[in-house]
Amino acid sequence: MVILPDECVSPHVAMAQRDHVRLEWRRPYQALERARPVAWTCFCRATVYELLESAGQAFLRRTVQLDGRHEVHETSVRPINEARTIWTALLTGRTR
Ligand SMILES: [Zn+2]
Repeated sequence: MVILPDECVSPHVAMAQRDHVRLEWRRPYQALERARPVAWTCFCRATVYELLESAGQAFLRRTVQLDGRHEVHETSVRPINEARTIWTALLTGRTR
């Protein structure tokens, strides 16, 4: 698929590094009330990542867009600073 750069306004995740840290992705379970997305990756990719925050805590959500359905997984809830560090590592391929 060819996408012109100016069609993408959100970041794309970098290719995972060979020694990247593997996050534990679990089924969503509403652990954090009123969590709202504060960052997300570009929807042009089949897999979209979001960073959701609420009341000083945060987690990451991964949505795989399949034909006609979405497969959603989330990390555990962590302090916001820790989650933001993980988010940056995700974007740069250091974790996945
Ligand atoms: Zn894109």
